[in-house]
This record gives sequence, C-alpha cells and structure tokens, in this order.
Amino acid sequence: RKIETAMFETLTDKLQRSFKSLRGQGTLTDENINDALRDIRVALLEADVNLTVARDLIEQVRAKAIGASVATALNPSEQIVKIVSDELLNVLGRDTAKFKFASQPPTVILMAGLQGSGKTTSSGKLATWLKKGGHRPLLVSVDVYRPAAREQLKVVAQSVGAAIYEGAYDAATDNNTAAVLRLAKAAYKEARNFAHDILIVDTAGRLGIDEALMDEMAALKKELNPSEILFVADAMTGQDAVNSAKAFNDRLQITGAILTKMDGDSRGGAALSIRQITGAPIKFLGTGEKPDAFEPFHPDRIVGRILG
Ligand code: GDP
Repeated sequence: RKIETAMFETLTDKLQRSFKSLRGQGTLTDENINDALRDIRVALLEADVNLTVARDLIEQVRAKAIGASVATALNPSEQIVKIVSDELLNVLGRDTAKFKFASQPPTVILMAGLQGSGKTTSSGKLATWLKKGGHRPLLVSVDVYRPAAREQLKVVAQSVGAAIYEGAYDAATDNNTAAVLRLAKAAYKEARNFAHDILIVDTAGRLGIDEALMDEMAALKKELNPSEILFVADAMTGQDAVNSAKAFNDRLQITGAILTKMDGDSRGGAALSIRQITGAPIKFLGTGEKPDAFEPFHPDRIVGRILG
C-alpha cells in the first residue's frame, strides 16, 4: 500500500535530508534549529506547498522547537520530526473526515471541479465505495452541455454496476441552467421513489473558473441542498488546484476535497494546502484509473508516509 507516496517522494526525500543534518547534534540549539528550519522551508517550497502554509508551518515548528524540553529521551532529529509531524497534522486535520449523510434520504453529493480533474471517474469510485458500505447510490450527470460527458458517466456506472438516471432530454434545446436544474430535480425524485439512499451528481466542468459555471453550481446547491459538495482536485496541477479549490469554496462552501491522480509522479505539496486554504478537509484520494483505486483520506497515515 505505497501507491500514493509517489506524489510525496520529493517532499519525503528533502525532509529526510533536513532531519539528517540534526542527527549528529547533542541538543536542539537556536542555531541548529534555524539551520533545520531553513532546510525544511526549502523542502516544503520545492514540494510546491503553498507559501503561506509553509511559512505558518515553519513558524509553528520554530515556536515548539525552541520551547522543546531539554530533558527528553528523543534526540534533536527525532524531536524535530515529531514537531513537524504534529504541525503537518494541524495542516491536514487530525482526524479522518466523516462522510456526511442527510437526516432524510436521499443524501445528495455534488461533485464539483474543473474539466479533466477526475470528477466522472471519482463519481464512479465513490459509488463503488458506497456500494461496498451497503448503500444504493444513484448517479446522474447534469452536464447538459457535453453529451460525451454524460455518456462517459453511463459507461462508468455500467462498469461498476451502479444505477444511473439519464432522464428525458433534448440536446437541441436543453442546454441551459434551467435544463440542468430540471434534470437534477428529476434525478432526486427518481432516487427517492426507487429507494436510492444516495444521489451522486456529476456536474459540468469547464476548462477554467467562469461565472456562468459558478452561478449554475450555486443554483444546483440551492435546488438540491447537498450534504456534501466535494471539490475534485487534480493533485498533479499543483497550485492551480489550490486556487480553483479556493474559488469554488468562496462561492459554494465545499464540504471536502477529493485529491485525484495521487499515483502520479508530482510534487504533491500543493494538494496538502487545500484544507488550510479552504477550511474543508480532504476526504478521499484517487490513486489510479480503476474504480477501486480510491480510499478515504487518513491524515495520520499520509503524514507517516511523508516523514518516512
Ligand atoms: P472530469 O472531466 O473531471 O470528469 O475527469 P475524468 O473523470 O474524465 O478524468 C480525466 C482523466 O483522468 C481520465 O483519463 C481518468 O482516467 C483520469 N483519472 C481520474 N482519476 C485518476 C486517478 O486517481 N489516477 C489516475 N492515474 N488517473 C485518473
């Protein structure tokens, strides 16, 4: 189970090196703390951790390292590793974020994000994960603008054996927000009538943030009152993913993020900043193209892997 560490290899390597420099030291002193912090800062920035997040983290580590007790069984290197680990957990959230269900079924999950981020793939993965948990999810794509996107969700649904709502729809006229809302409402009704306890709504992605998209997402949120608005972020896109997460959160108040393509070979640090920037926790990781390459996000395990 090492798949998603590819994403953090750079960070792990660089941090290891900065900790190593402390290994020969007897105690933590102002001087060796400063040296280590400088190296850790470089490691974070090179791994693409957001500048503000890196700076805050370093300051927290500094405050704790300077106050660290001299009478400890840990050597300076171990002390710093422990402090960095604690602070990374503060950034990522200490606990595994819970998945929120509605008090009255069906629970609605709105999948948000840019085109290509992995929304459709993740919708199928989420359905698979929920089915394993004994749920009966219904999928719907409300991307009335791209028939290919709706067809893709259908293929995904079939491949994982999940139910999909297609609805009546006329490509010539049904290509506006009114049609999106109509489709969403009909899917909700279908879920309720056929005892699906969860409705997963795959939305239209755009290439970049645009106001029309945000207006439509806000209208969908109002219409469906979703328990979860999950922002799907392509971890490979670094700071861009963080900036989009912020834009979506400012408008929609996302409830969590799904980081996709964690199996990719990238610097990974940016993705770690999403919670600090939006306040919304990472809830799932996508670790490959297959429907089961998906897992709940456990901050402690990730931090353990990053720190080696
Ligand atoms: P959407 O436009 O947001 O719906 O994105 P898609 O679900 O179509 O995904 C875009 C591409 O990314 C597809 O080729 C997916 O197979 C791929 N993809 C999605 N999630 C992952 C992942 O976790 N790992 C890898 N390696 N590829 C992924």
